[in-house]
Amino acid sequence: MKVLLFAGHSMMNGGKQIDGTKISEHIVTSRIAYTVDRLCHPFVSYMPTPRGLITPSEYLDWRIGLANSKHYDGVVDLHYNSITDEDVSSVISFYSSNSKGGSILAACLGNSVYEAVRPLVPMKPPVVTDDVGRYSQHSRLAFLAKTRPWACVLELGFFTHPWTANLVKQYISCKTVDGADYGAHVVFGIADGLLDFLRILSSGEHDELV
Ligand SMILES: [Zn+2]
Repeated sequence: MKVLLFAGHSMMNGGKQIDGTKISEHIVTSRIAYTVDRLCHPFVSYMPTPRGLITPSEYLDWRIGLANSKHYDGVVDLHYNSITDEDVSSVISFYSSNSKGGSILAACLGNSVYEAVRPLVPMKPPVVTDDVGRYSQHSRLAFLAKTRPWACVLELGFFTHPWTANLVKQYISCKTVDGADYGAHVVFGIADGLLDFLRILSSGEHDELV
């Protein structure tokens, strides 16, 4: 049993950034993914984005090719979101509408990351959705639709939310206990969600999910 983990985007094209900083989604999610891999080895495998990849379409093809190249039970792509409304902060996990296993994976991750992070960040309950269009991202839809293993795109929070932005900045600079604490909460939330998912698979309940 194995879950493949991606840190959204690449070094060259890191996705969204925290205002006034050079901290991108990729910088944050790659640190988180690396730690989850260390913690959950051999059940979770983090695959760093190759440095040469630049364009979003190359990044999309690379992820799909790798996810479909050998047997994985699940695939997760980690991101942060941004919005103009500073009050919005929640965990959002997306799955493909024709994938019941994907919906289980998305629910396990959304709930456990929410439980892990909410002592530090005021947030609404997680959104677990196959409504990719609402957040209108073509690449997210393509990734979920073309990936053979059960797949989830997990938005860990919002860079535009002041609490989240502040904790992420501290996590990346690692200068304070609070920052390290936030990172640990996110990592344990993801690890716990993935282990929940694998427990469901190994219990045999998933036979009805295919
Ligand atoms: Zn992203």
